[in-house]
This record gives sequence, C-alpha cells and structure tokens, in this order.
Amino acid sequence: MASSRAKTSAPKGVPAKMASIKCKCGEYLHYTAEQVGFVAKCRCGRGVQLPSMPMEPLPPAPKSHAELEDEYYRKRNIKWQIAAVGLFFLLVCAGVGMVAMKSGKHSPGVSEVGGDPG
Ligand SMILES: [Zn+2]
Repeated sequence: MASSRAKTSAPKGVPAKMASIKCKCGEYLHYTAEQVGFVAKCRCGRGVQLPSMPMEPLPPAPKSHAELEDEYYRKRNIKWQIAAVGLFFLLVCAGVGMVAMKSGKHSPGVSEVGGDPG
C-alpha cells in the first residue's frame, strides 16, 4: 500500500509580532499576537475582530563565508580582466602607432645608406 504522507509544507515566514487592521471607517487598529481573536473597539465605535497574524516573509539568509569568498574572487577576476583588456588595447595602439610611423618614414627624401662610391 502506498500511503503518501508527505505533508511537511512548513509556512515560509514567521508570524508578525504586530499587525494592523483597517476599520471600515478607515482607521487603522494596531494589535499584537496576544490580541488575536479579540474584538477591538475602534474610535468610531465599531467593534473590529482581530484576525490572526499575517505571515511576514523571512529575511534573506546571510551569505555564507564560501559565497562571500567566491564573490570576492569573482570581483577580483573582473578587475584583472579589465586590466588585461586595457593593456591589450594599449599594446594594439602602440603597435598601430609604430606601423604608422614606419610607413611614414618611407618617404622619397630619405636616401639609403651603404651606397658604394665609384
Ligand atoms: Zn472605525
């Protein structure tokens, strides 16, 4: 017999310590967990039944040490990558500049050295 008793769905969150409910008149009534189920009297005279506490979402879990370390290394890697790209760009610029200078030197005004006289 297969009996599925997998009913362990814990609510995600914690009940709020304080809550507020809006009266029909627009006034907000604040109450605590101990006052749930009671009827609060609004200033307008209405009795407002206090519902059970709303569930507050759990705060995001703090990052573990490993995660922080991983992030640190990733950031450092990005820094290095940016530096490498910058260096590469500089090298390319220098190379292009040198080529341009070399081709510029090749003008008819410059005579070649090593001519044998006579
Ligand atoms: Zn009211």
